[in-house]
Amino acid sequence: MPRQAAALKPIEKVQRYPLDAFLADIGDIGDIEWTSEPTDLKRRSRDFFWYSPILSEQLKDKLADVIVTPKDENEVIRIAAACARYRIPLTPRGGATGNYGQCVPLEGGVVLDMAAMNRIEWQKPGRVRVQAGAKLWDIDAATRPHGFELRMHPSTKRSAQIGGFVAGGSGGAGSVTFGGMREPGNILAARIVTLEERPRAIELRGDAAQKISRAYGTTGIITELEMPLAPAQAWIDVIVAFEDFIEAIRFGRSIAMADGIVKKLVSPIEWPLPQHFAAFRSFCPEGKCLVLGMIGDMSMESFETLLEPLRGSITYKAPADDSLGKVPLYEHTWNHTTLQMLKADRSVTYLQCLYPHDRLVDAATEVAKMFGDEVMQHLEFIRINGVMAANGIPVIRYRSPERLYEIIAGFEACGVMIANPHVVTLEDGSRYKRVDADQLGFKREVDPMGLLNPGKMRSFVPHQ
Ligand SMILES: Cc1cc2nc3c(=O)[nH]c(=O)nc-3n(C[C@H](O)[C@H](O)[C@H](O)COP(=O)(O)OP(=O)(O)OC[C@H]3O[C@@H](n4cnc5c(N)ncnc54)[C@H](O)[C@@H]3O)c2cc1C
Repeated sequence: MPRQAAALKPIEKVQRYPLDAFLADIGDIGDIEWTSEPTDLKRRSRDFFWYSPILSEQLKDKLADVIVTPKDENEVIRIAAACARYRIPLTPRGGATGNYGQCVPLEGGVVLDMAAMNRIEWQKPGRVRVQAGAKLWDIDAATRPHGFELRMHPSTKRSAQIGGFVAGGSGGAGSVTFGGMREPGNILAARIVTLEERPRAIELRGDAAQKISRAYGTTGIITELEMPLAPAQAWIDVIVAFEDFIEAIRFGRSIAMADGIVKKLVSPIEWPLPQHFAAFRSFCPEGKCLVLGMIGDMSMESFETLLEPLRGSITYKAPADDSLGKVPLYEHTWNHTTLQMLKADRSVTYLQCLYPHDRLVDAATEVAKMFGDEVMQHLEFIRINGVMAANGIPVIRYRSPERLYEIIAGFEACGVMIANPHVVTLEDGSRYKRVDADQLGFKREVDPMGLLNPGKMRSFVPHQ
């Protein structure tokens, strides 16, 4: 049950922060929704960090002191002002599908739940303006009748919010054509609220909007986003089975690189991962490696023509459907592949990789030789700076932290870059082991006291 200002009473525990003063302050405007019920605090202080045995141990006891759910930007400003006044950390929370404790309040304080700010503000051909808490699925549902859809979405499209995707995600279905979120042009504008005693609302347009992209909410509270759209397509979900992973990669890459073929997803997947694809199991022949694809209806003939000379066979082909009660094919790719296996076997974990585009097949072969059954590979083709690259989110049979780090070193020895998903800071989790200079500088402007999601940007030293 939401609690309201009228029901204010002291929070009964030893307080790390002056929460009663904070709540009295936000209560001044009447009805900002908040809760400090222990079950709410526990449930809403988590994300999917449990994929990582290492983070599971580190983060399981982290808890917010209060969850606040603003309805509009004015309420966000009031909350931010009160946090600044009383020096209380604030951690924005979207759909909480992040994987590395991105929305876990490492130092407690306020969790700002964005779920109620979910309005579609307006749409025009090729662009949409939304509040940050709008779910990706809802945005597509609103734009598709007008002939447009989001350029890309994570495989968590049905539960993630656009603000969480921009602040915490990297790419997904659609990235084979449009690249990752960080490619210029993939965010048109962002409106943010700063964390200061007198918070400002700032509109960041064009390239400036990248200052909040994958910054884990450390560089401002996003209240609105303007996103580019692509023409909506009739997508066909397709599964092709191959004798081995390398053939699947070769075919996947030929489709990914065929610019005339309209596609949203091209994912080669190594056996035995498909064994765990319950909803599609009858289309996953025993022992076969797969390519999962979302292909534009008008491009299916060309897709099949490229397949003809190869040893692959189509086992499934049907219009994509992610409506309520259906399991879309994209929920078997990106980090959903890990989830499908985790449903049956909680002893696995994963890594996040970027394979070398000029020796993709060699690198995948070397990884397979080096680790055998301990590592199960799957790739997601993604355009990076105009080059067709391949992300990988291999599923790993977990033995110990030491072994996991040996596996990381093994991947790196094969020329595969790792963005470590078993750490909480932006720096340690990035492929380049540093935070974007623009984002660090911007943080000094918008969060001088370092109260936004503290602990996630370790290069930042707050003003005293
Ligand atoms: C099964 C599974 C599959 C996944 N597949 C993909 C994938 O295909 N591609 C991908 O990129 N990721 C993927 N992820 C990770 C995650 O789902 C996405 O990044 C997703 O877009 C996060 O959105 P969210 O709303 O759940 O954000 P949250 O997890 O709630 O938050 C993510 C980060 O954004 C910040 N944040 C949220 N809202 C705001 C706001 N309004 N202002 C400022 N900061 C904010 C949070 O503080 C946090 O740091 C996957 C995760 C799982 C568990």
